[in-house]
Amino acid sequence: MIVVMRAGAPESAIQAVIERLAEFNLSGHRSDGAEHTIIGVVGAMIPPALETQVTVMEDVEKVMRISHPYKLAGREFQRNDTVIEVNGVRIGGGEIVLMAGPCSVESEEQIITTARAVRDAGGHILRGGAFKPRTSPYAFRGLGREGLRLLAQARAETGLPIVTEVLAPAEVELVASYADILQIGARNMQNYLLLEEVGRCGKPVLLKRGLSATIEEWLLAAEYILAQGNRQVILCERGIRTFETATRNTLDLNAVALVRRLSHLPVIADPSHGTGMRELVHPLALASIAAGASGLILEVHPDPDRALSDGRQSLTCDGFAALVHQLKSLVQVLGRSLHEPFQEPALT
Ligand code: PEP
Ligand code: MN
Repeated sequence: MIVVMRAGAPESAIQAVIERLAEFNLSGHRSDGAEHTIIGVVGAMIPPALETQVTVMEDVEKVMRISHPYKLAGREFQRNDTVIEVNGVRIGGGEIVLMAGPCSVESEEQIITTARAVRDAGGHILRGGAFKPRTSPYAFRGLGREGLRLLAQARAETGLPIVTEVLAPAEVELVASYADILQIGARNMQNYLLLEEVGRCGKPVLLKRGLSATIEEWLLAAEYILAQGNRQVILCERGIRTFETATRNTLDLNAVALVRRLSHLPVIADPSHGTGMRELVHPLALASIAAGASGLILEVHPDPDRALSDGRQSLTCDGFAALVHQLKSLVQVLGRSLHEPFQEPALT
C-alpha cells in the first residue's frame, strides 16, 4: 500500500501516518519529493481497517493498494494450478472436465436416464439440484432429501461423482453426506456463514460467481472458504447481470481468462445459466474452453421442454453428446485434452 501526502503536508501529519502504521505493527518507507511525501507500507497482509483509517487522516491525498486483498486465492500465494481430485476425476489445470445433468432432480427415471446419457457421451460428473434457490417462492424448489438420495442412486448406477447445491449452513452436513462436490449458488456467493461452513466440511466446493459480483468480490468469497482450511475450491463463471436483456445473463469470458491469471484455483464455465438459451449453450461452451476454462457445467435433460426448472436453457441428451463430439476437435486445436471418460472398473 502506498500513502501519498498532500503537497506541503506538515511533518506532524507525516509522523501521524507513520505512528498509525506502527499501531498495526507495520513500518513505512518514506520518500520525500519536491512537493509530495510518499510512504510505502510494507507487510504481507495489510488490514483493510488500516487502509480506511489512513485514507481519512489529515493531509493524506490518497491511498493506493498494490497487492490484492485476497491472499490464499491468488497466484502470488501459489504459482501452480490447484488440481482437485474427486473420485479419480482431476479438476484444474489443462485437462477439461465436463459436469452435466438436470437443473433439478425431478424423478428417479429422469435422473438415472440423464446420468447414463451423460456418462455414455463422455461426461465426468453428474450435476442436479435437490435444494433449489428459486426467484419465486411458488416455483419448484427441488425434492430436498429425496433428491439427494436419487443422486446417490445415480452415482451408484453410473460411477459418476455428484455435484449439488447447498443453501443453508444448517444443511451442509446433510448435503455433504451425499455429495462429492458442494455447489454454492450465485445467490449465496456472499452468504459468509455458509462459505465458512463449507470451508470446514472438507469436501470440494464449486463456488458460482454472484449475479452482480465483481471478480474481486468473487475471489474474496473463495478466500472465506480457503481461510477455513479447505483448499478445494472450484470457481464457476455463470454469467452476470448487464444492461442486456436479450439473454438471461452475460457470460463473462473476460473473467474466465483473467481469473486463470489471478488465481491458481480451477475455473469452469456455466454457459447454461450464462445464456439462458439452449441454442446458445453449444457455441458459448466452445468459447469458454477457448478462453481457458478447465471445464464446463451444463444443464442436460431428457425432455427439456417438460423440465420443472430451466428447461429453456437445457440441452437434450443428444445435444450434449453432439457438444462433446465437437469439444474433442476443439481441444486438439488448442493443444489441450478432455479428461479420460469414466471407465467401469474391470471385473476381476
Ligand atoms: C443452478 O446451477 O441450477 C443454479 C441455480 O445456478 P446459479 O446459482 O448459477 O443461478
Ligand atoms: Mn438451473
